[in-house]
Amino acid sequence: MYSVSQGPKFVVARAEGPWLWDDNGDRYLDGTASLWYCNVGHGRTEIADAVHRQLTQLDAFTVYGDFANAPALELSERLAAHAPVADPRVILTCGGGESIETAAKLARRYWAALGRPGKTHLISRTGGYHGLHGVGTSIIGMDRFRTGFGPMVRENSVVPHDSVRALEEEILRVGPDRVAAFFAEPVIGSGGVYAVDAEYFAGVAEVCRRHGVLFVVDSVICAFARMGNWFGIERYGVRPDMIVFAKGVSSGYLPLGGVITSGALAEPFWDRPGNPFHHGTTYAGHPTCCAAALANLDILEREDLFTVALEVESQLDAAMRTLADHPLVREVRSGTGVMAAVQLTDEALGERGITTAEVFAEARARGVILRAIPHSLLVSPPLVITWEQIDHLVSTLRAALDAVAQRH
Ligand code: PMP
Repeated sequence: MYSVSQGPKFVVARAEGPWLWDDNGDRYLDGTASLWYCNVGHGRTEIADAVHRQLTQLDAFTVYGDFANAPALELSERLAAHAPVADPRVILTCGGGESIETAAKLARRYWAALGRPGKTHLISRTGGYHGLHGVGTSIIGMDRFRTGFGPMVRENSVVPHDSVRALEEEILRVGPDRVAAFFAEPVIGSGGVYAVDAEYFAGVAEVCRRHGVLFVVDSVICAFARMGNWFGIERYGVRPDMIVFAKGVSSGYLPLGGVITSGALAEPFWDRPGNPFHHGTTYAGHPTCCAAALANLDILEREDLFTVALEVESQLDAAMRTLADHPLVREVRSGTGVMAAVQLTDEALGERGITTAEVFAEARARGVILRAIPHSLLVSPPLVITWEQIDHLVSTLRAALDAVAQRH
């Protein structure tokens, strides 16, 4: 895909804090924390040192069977201690998509182990993004990612992202005896930054519990302080059956992800040779990736980026809202977590033929990296961004919108 794309490349050569430099030495503000992951900012030598120490002590070894390593154990303990999940157990993976596969297979396998193998159907939300592996491609709430691959996981459906009633109706339509799990991000990220009402997730948790459907929270974007807490979902006061994480757990210094499941879900499999969960991957529990994650969590805690993120959230919200009056802008979505979206008007995207890619290019030419999806520009900066840098980001986005408006 990307590796076979043609044309000139934008070569990123160096990074420090919220800044990047290209191979010409030009500097850019990283308005997206790369792909939503560099929560502590770039260039943290503390993480590099931890990686070096781990590589020279124990580079890597499998965690299959009863094998373990100290960083994987410590990371699992630390995540479990903060997870809003009953009696939590941690399964480590190499990223978000792989964790979604793991959660979906565990959900189905759990019901099968309980003698209910018919419970295989997965429900997700419009605009939801869950990676692009097999299950993720099947349950993603954006058609453009689902089509053209032939049949994948067929037993799935998508419901509006903000309606508890629609979820319950869908569970009843499919039949509670067929539904395994419901997947939801605390705030929809890649799909365009859509937050829900404060009561939505309490309703979801209640409906799922009442109908015997597992509630899986995909916190790949929302965790590790991006919403001012550990896993994002704490903001809504509910305890899911599983939490999927990746990205900010290591701020992306090395790839890592995982699933935190409730003890009840793990119970049929945990340390039970007779009824195992036949699933796992080569690099799961990689000690060096875990060492990077531990150093990253040290920074999050020591610098209290949880509290910092709440301040950044309101600063970013205030700054982004100033764009609401721009003639090209239909809607600004911000104020829940350190992330925001600016959606262009239908007229701009339609009759005027403006694309978000043009706005992205204008902003980058002015030294700010944004993310473009078909209808919106997205921002999700590192949590260490300052007020001056937020101001620079937003005024550059305005200048990019002005430049594109003038051209059309
Ligand atoms: N879930 C969510 C909510 C995501 O944002 C992403 C990645 N953007 C994924 C899953 C997939 O993660 P990965 O790209 O590491 O497979």
